[in-house]
Amino acid sequence: MYTIKGKTGDWEVVIGLETHIEVLSNSKIFSGASANYNPSVAPNTQVSMVDAAMPGMLPVLNEYCVDQAIKFGLGINAEISRVSRFARKQYFYPDLPQGYQISQPAEEPPVVGRGWIEILGDDGNPKKILIERAHMEQDAAKNKHDMHPSKSFVDLNRSGVMLLEIVTFLDTKNPENNSYITSPDEAERYLRAIRELARALGVSKANMEEGSMRADVNVSVKRVGSNTFGTRTETKNMVSFKFIKTAIEYEARRQIEILENGGTVSQDTMRYNQGDGTTSVLRSKEDALDYRYFPDPDLLPLVITDEQIERVRRTMPELPAATRTRYIEKFGLPEYDAARLTETVDISRWFDTAVGNKPERAKAIANWMISELFAHPENFDITNEVRERPADEPRIITPENLAELVDMISANEINGKQAKEIFIKMLDGETGTPKEIADKFGMKQMTDVSAIEKVIDDVIAANPSQVEQYKSGKVGLFGFFVGSVMKATGGKANPATVNEILKKKLG
Ligand code: ADP
Ligand code: MG
Repeated sequence: MYTIKGKTGDWEVVIGLETHIEVLSNSKIFSGASANYNPSVAPNTQVSMVDAAMPGMLPVLNEYCVDQAIKFGLGINAEISRVSRFARKQYFYPDLPQGYQISQPAEEPPVVGRGWIEILGDDGNPKKILIERAHMEQDAAKNKHDMHPSKSFVDLNRSGVMLLEIVTFLDTKNPENNSYITSPDEAERYLRAIRELARALGVSKANMEEGSMRADVNVSVKRVGSNTFGTRTETKNMVSFKFIKTAIEYEARRQIEILENGGTVSQDTMRYNQGDGTTSVLRSKEDALDYRYFPDPDLLPLVITDEQIERVRRTMPELPAATRTRYIEKFGLPEYDAARLTETVDISRWFDTAVGNKPERAKAIANWMISELFAHPENFDITNEVRERPADEPRIITPENLAELVDMISANEINGKQAKEIFIKMLDGETGTPKEIADKFGMKQMTDVSAIEKVIDDVIAANPSQVEQYKSGKVGLFGFFVGSVMKATGGKANPATVNEILKKKLG
């Protein structure tokens, strides 16, 4: 369990995340303008009268956006509300021409109700993180302060693009069921799980660098073992996993220090300072904004039918959680392997391609992927991460290459050591398939029993004193004999055969 040592004892950290993802759709949530804005689109060119809040314009709900919310809701195993409402959240800011954001009321169930998502907990076991709700809302426009020394500009292209806000649940009535995020690493894994799910479903690109995923981070601390939750603070608008982890830890330590010095934590809204990794008070709860939510009179309640839910359900691909179960049940992989191989949809797709229609390959492929592929990402074209490729591109190892290598080992054509050599040659840029490389470098496993036997006899004859010691009980010397035989065969002997014959001969 993640704990922080204070002066007076150990503390646990309690984390609640409010995650905004920008939803993919052709048009905006309440208008027909394109929602496909990006930095290359000229400012204020994808703006309808609704997005610009012209008097008398009426919002019209985009049904595809509702489908997207339902899809995500089904993905987090949530209840879908058959009726929910839209509300106006009032505040003034230049990037909000309406003077209010259309959202869903905080005090009523929104379109997506209680659900959960599974992550790998810090203890190495799967952990369900409960989700309280996910609601639909409009994104604001974008203020531009860097275009003119004394003027600010507003780009309305983003105004009215749909956001889905996903809020984790803190079950204060059953604190012992440990269904919430309790460490910076778990916070990161939760956000990655949300991101992967959103991508797998095509609901959002959920890319923090591009701003299509952002999170508000609620943090409180409590004494280890205590069932009483502390007062939390909320750090707004975080856009990087690294900053989120730093902010959680800094904020937890800050609260611990206050409490240990006899003070009380006040429920403040914090800002994260990138420069030094600290947090500071943005506004206190006392002067928190009063949003004066009220039902939006321009929009009817959102009614969702069973037919609509079923229609959406039929479009859903296999989700990471189901993929994990398939790996465990069909391929017999351990939980840990299954979790690592489903970290992203790209990784599981790569794995599935390598396994192909031979489930007996699965464990070996998993081992190679987890120990080698994750260590050499530059040699595997599987991640979606935008990254610089070096000028002289490294060789890309394909799923077919790895499958062939694994098959050569199980067909006794090469041993594990030779496979590793071939693999390293591929990393170093050697072209050709593993079979071609094995041929080129004469790496064929020695499986001829009589030939191996001959080498073993030579090794035994050359080391009489070691044989004596072994026979008088120094069994640790067995490795020495195996090593000598392997060396004498240039690493080509089948290790299992060597072991077997040696055991027989040494008695
Ligand atoms: P608000 O309405 O003020 O935004 P919510 O009840 O919606 O507050 O909670 C926002 C987030 O804060 C949720 O993810 C919730 O689980 C989390 N949260 C609530 N209480 C605590 C606490 N004591 N410590 C940490 N997180 C908390
Ligand atoms: Mg809230």
